[in-house]
Amino acid sequence: MKQMKTSMAAIIVSTAASAVFAGLYGDTPDAKHAWAVHDMNRPVPTRVTAEPGKPPSDAVVLFDGTSLDNWESTKGEPTKWRLADGALESVKGAGYIRTKQAFGDCQLHLEWASPSKVEGMGQGRGNSGVFLMGSYEIQVLDSSETAVLPDGTNLNPNYADGQASAVYAENPPLVNACRKPGEWQTYDIIFHQPVWADGKLKYPGSVTVLHNGVLTQDHWEMEGMTTHCRRRPLAQHDTKLPLQLQDHGNPVRYRNIWIREIPSRYANTTHGGPAASEADVMALRRQTAAKLFAAANPGDANKAAALGRLLEVIAYDKAESYMKPVAELSDAYLKDLSGLDKQKLQDRKGEIIGLRNNCNVLTRNQVVPEDFKLKTELQRIISENGLEKKK
Ligand code: MG
Repeated sequence: MKQMKTSMAAIIVSTAASAVFAGLYGDTPDAKHAWAVHDMNRPVPTRVTAEPGKPPSDAVVLFDGTSLDNWESTKGEPTKWRLADGALESVKGAGYIRTKQAFGDCQLHLEWASPSKVEGMGQGRGNSGVFLMGSYEIQVLDSSETAVLPDGTNLNPNYADGQASAVYAENPPLVNACRKPGEWQTYDIIFHQPVWADGKLKYPGSVTVLHNGVLTQDHWEMEGMTTHCRRRPLAQHDTKLPLQLQDHGNPVRYRNIWIREIPSRYANTTHGGPAASEADVMALRRQTAAKLFAAANPGDANKAAALGRLLEVIAYDKAESYMKPVAELSDAYLKDLSGLDKQKLQDRKGEIIGLRNNCNVLTRNQVVPEDFKLKTELQRIISENGLEKKK
């Protein structure tokens, strides 16, 4: 690790100094990866700030305790749910509520509390629900007493696939992390919707839930649309739909609700993984190669630096229009070296070894054959002149 850090530092430093080592360090792009390992050309993620207890800077705040403006009834009318002491409270008979804005794949945070006054049993005790895209319910329920006690009793028996943080009617939570009635609890949910192509299910989507910080759904792949009693297969719907909260007749409260839209891994076709499309990967590789080639300046008086940049180009795309200048510049560079005496070669050993290392990355990844002329010639010069010998 330390060695790698040192090498990376050397690369970054030399990027500014000579650009010989700007690229060609980790394994090169391949059919499924548009970027090399540790690729300095790969765009870095945009910055999001996240202060403790506050929504991330790029989150859509759906409820901050002050207004119901972001919510409406499922008929598109003003909701009859109550704003009470900074909380959003379900009102019996008011019906589900939904966000005015529609969302798809998301990271969702919310806090909820079942009523302090315990009433009912099982599904009748503090029941509500988080309906992702209005279609997939993560159960909200007072399940605090739904566990088998050491003496074998269960104070509030309930079906496992319907307790708090269950994917309702499909998958029970991994553990019961439910707090006591009236206490605030958190859900952190990462949701990917099913993906369809030409009317066929390509990917069932998934949901991960942390209940009070405890993992309760571990990338559960959806089997169907939420319903009661029956198994209802997945069905295609819009890719953005409102988030809904359930009115199940109990005054469950919510607060601090925010959501971040996240990309579908199946829409991201160029970053490796199961969805990587070879055509899209190659298109991005070509685009990167073209951009690098435009900045490569093959006529640079510093032939080594120009060659380093051209070698990087062919790691993305071995088009003849790039391979030809590589071959020409390699010959010109080797010709220059052939006119140098031992001392001058020693003086330039950093550059020579650096380029040979670039070639090594290319041969290791079969971008060029093992007998790539530039590599074999540089290796010969290095060996004959003892350039790698420690003094
Ligand atoms: Mg429910």
